Amino acid sequence: MDVKAINEAKTALQKAVDTGKNEEVIDIIVQLKKGVKPTEALLRDTRIGVAVGKLRTHKSDAVARAAKELVGVWRNVVKPAEAKPSPSAAATPSGKSATPSGKSATPSAPMSKTNSQATTGASPSMVRNVETDGVASKVMCRDDRTRNQCIKLMYDGLAFDQSAPSEIILKCAMKIDEEMYNLVGKEVNKTYRDRMRGLLLNLKDKKNPALREAVLNGSIKADRLVNMKPDELASEEKKHEAQKIKEHNLFLAQSATNTGAVTDLFQCGKCKERKVSYYQMQTRSADEPMTTFCTCTVCGNRWKFS
Ligand SMILES: [Zn+2]
Repeated sequence: MDVKAINEAKTALQKAVDTGKNEEVIDIIVQLKKGVKPTEALLRDTRIGVAVGKLRTHKSDAVARAAKELVGVWRNVVKPAEAKPSPSAAATPSGKSATPSGKSATPSAPMSKTNSQATTGASPSMVRNVETDGVASKVMCRDDRTRNQCIKLMYDGLAFDQSAPSEIILKCAMKIDEEMYNLVGKEVNKTYRDRMRGLLLNLKDKKNPALREAVLNGSIKADRLVNMKPDELASEEKKHEAQKIKEHNLFLAQSATNTGAVTDLFQCGKCKERKVSYYQMQTRSADEPMTTFCTCTVCGNRWKFS
């Protein structure tokens, strides 16, 4: 159906509606569904979408249903171009991009999916790696495949949520490889692989952006990084967890021997008795207050405060 045919159908549709010929109305809707290759421009110019759209609330269920169905079909075809004026859609007349397939798949949808790296699970639009940064060929800078692979992984691990320029990230990744290579005796051996893997796990840890930032802004240099121990590399959260476990173990060990003095200064929260043994310890840095570990000598309840 061209514009003229659609306009004629529209006139006929209006007439059928006005004269209450519901079967004819449905007939025309069916014809429109078959005959119209919907584009935004076509629906807009003929205003046939509006005409059919009005019939969605028609008092005849059959007419309303037919109208709803057709509007639904048309909307699916047209919506992508309308809703998402992506650069590619803007470059071509918006109607054309939807016509050829006649299907609802937008041309831009598959594109954005590959760009967003949905598999990584990180915030979709931000994820960077050697491909998105266009440095895939630049990481192939060594004679060794393993080293190149490590540089690539190191780049991806450093870059994915960071905004540093890609040259800086590449430089860091290469420097880390170089330092590690030198450290393990200038050969790609098991130690190189193991340590690079360990480093990578910490570098790409989503909860450890501070480490990535420190490496990229130079406050942790590559030569220091390759010598750092796992607990130094870990995120604050992991460090905190480890510290808590350590404290708790110490707590258990010390209260087991029960060497603390008994006092009535503290009241047990559980049994409300005031027969509490306690001891104090420096659990964190020296400039922080002591932690007091308490054990109720009546019910065995334990707590601590600082
Ligand atoms: Zn108690």
